[in-house]
Amino acid sequence: MLIRDLFNQKKRTLSFEVFPPVREGNLESLFATIAELEELKPDFISVTYGAGGGTRDKTIEIASRVKNEIRSEALAHLTCVASSRDDIARILEDMKAQNIENILALRGDPPRGEERFVRPEGGFGFANELVEFIKAHGAFSIGVAGYPEGHPEAPSVEDDLKNLKRKVDAGADFIVTQLFFHNDDFYRFRDRVMAMKIRVPVIPGIFPILNYRQILRITELCGSKIPPALGERLCRLQDKPGEVEKYGIEYAQDQAWDLVRNEVCGLHICTMNRSRAARTIVRELAL
Ligand SMILES: Cc1cc2nc3c(=O)[nH]c(=O)nc-3n(C[C@H](O)[C@H](O)[C@H](O)COP(=O)(O)OP(=O)(O)OC[C@H]3O[C@@H](n4cnc5c(N)ncnc54)[C@H](O)[C@@H]3O)c2cc1C
Repeated sequence: MLIRDLFNQKKRTLSFEVFPPVREGNLESLFATIAELEELKPDFISVTYGAGGGTRDKTIEIASRVKNEIRSEALAHLTCVASSRDDIARILEDMKAQNIENILALRGDPPRGEERFVRPEGGFGFANELVEFIKAHGAFSIGVAGYPEGHPEAPSVEDDLKNLKRKVDAGADFIVTQLFFHNDDFYRFRDRVMAMKIRVPVIPGIFPILNYRQILRITELCGSKIPPALGERLCRLQDKPGEVEKYGIEYAQDQAWDLVRNEVCGLHICTMNRSRAARTIVRELAL
């Protein structure tokens, strides 16, 4: 099913994000997690696309199993990194052959150790170009990334919003946001999106914190801010991993409650390939 059609049928979607494990043996453990997530009846499961090399083929393999074996809906992420137009065309054909109908179209981050993203030879420099290409090569439903706090490379939030509009004008059907820890950032972003006459659903990305060092690394990379009170609490708990996880899940749960009260059209929960946080959040919300 095309994800764009879901929004006409449902007041609010529920989705989970997983990533392809680096080690081969961990694939079955991921599918055990996906089976647990499926009990929560998500509308779709999204599968990230490796920043480089090895795990890329796995994205299609996992999305295909979600779609064809588990018979749930899959959203396969795809980036412009290290791919020419021909490479992307081949990937799209592969996706069609696997019955994958939904793609999250991304530019991708610069490879490790490089400061700027450089357009790959014969490829795309920005996600809006990828959206346009996908649109011309199949009947996919296309999602794109949005940044409530602005993308770290954008000169201003306004510039970033103009670039978001380019992606939607190129054919994107929905927006999934970067993680954020201050819901007001999301509400302000949603208002600005509406003011720009961007008329597609905006799904907030929720990231339950499970590990102190991991969240420091991730936020440093993606530029999302950790509010001071949250940061201080996590810092105090850092030597008690169980307490960090418990508090991280509680915090995400509070965020999710507030988002639902404020009529978001979906909740997209990053799982880090573990189901516990998602199960707690969804069951408490009685979604
Ligand atoms: C929900 C979500 C899922 C993600 N999944 C993955 C994943 O699976 N794999 C992965 O590697 N990364 C993933 N990322 C990270 C993403 O690849 C990075 O944030 C990347 O730096 C930007 O990707 P983008 O698609 O937003 O790029 P773009 O929309 O191309 O934007 C990149 C920068 O360029 C600017 N810009 C955009 N278009 C133009 C233009 N036409 N002219 C001038 N400037 C422009 C933007 O303002 C922004 O600063 C994800 C991010 C999110 C929010």
